[in-house]
Amino acid sequence: MSRQPLVVGNWKMNGRRAEARRLSAALVPLVKGVATEVVVCPPFPYLIDVADQLQSSLVKVGAQNCSDHAPGAFTGEVAAEMLVDAGCHYVIVGHSERRTLYQEASSLVAGKAQAAIAAGLVPIVCFGETLEEREAGTTEKVLAEQVTAIQRQFEPALIEKLVFAYEPVWAIGTGVTASPEQVEVAHRFVRGLLAEAGETVRILYGGSVKPGNAAELFSLENVDGGLIGGASLDEQSFAAICQAMG
Ligand code: PEP
Repeated sequence: MSRQPLVVGNWKMNGRRAEARRLSAALVPLVKGVATEVVVCPPFPYLIDVADQLQSSLVKVGAQNCSDHAPGAFTGEVAAEMLVDAGCHYVIVGHSERRTLYQEASSLVAGKAQAAIAAGLVPIVCFGETLEEREAGTTEKVLAEQVTAIQRQFEPALIEKLVFAYEPVWAIGTGVTASPEQVEVAHRFVRGLLAEAGETVRILYGGSVKPGNAAELFSLENVDGGLIGGASLDEQSFAAICQAMG
């Protein structure tokens, strides 16, 4: 079963409007002709600018978060419908920074994924264990809890529409990458949990992916691409990572 490769840049809370415009424009010629689907996720205020800029390119736009609610009285929140209106195709949900810094539970993450699907967005559902959990031997238990929370709220047929991203918390922004074996074991485990949908669903790896290690990670059987933080803020590095996907 062939799965369309996907590389996603998570810009996090970085840059200013002019830099968002410069970075997205600079990226377009560099990723022309790559075999992978390419997505960038700028901060909310710059989504429209970046989406406008990328309109005639193959690079798509995603957001970094969304509300689990439909539009209404939810001060400070952004509805999935609004992201579609702003030109987004994707939205990241359940990033570890949101789970740890903003106490987002797996049930809330599942609600956000549902809101995204209802609005016509593809949710990129992040999951991953902390270093303490890995050292305590509970990695599979943690991954299962995060992934089954999604399965509980989705029909199996709908799961195929999601993208998952394995992001071991200890590898995010630390320069420490999970070993190819650790990545493959985690991806195979989650694909197994997803049963039939596991065949078709895309599972990305994220955590200190750089131009120098991308090709090895992307060559793993159960890795369908990457979710890239720091290296996505530099167009040359991000383009090299996209090229490593093929
Ligand atoms: C991330 O935050 O999703 C991420 C993978 O970051 P980095 O690539 O910087 O480790």
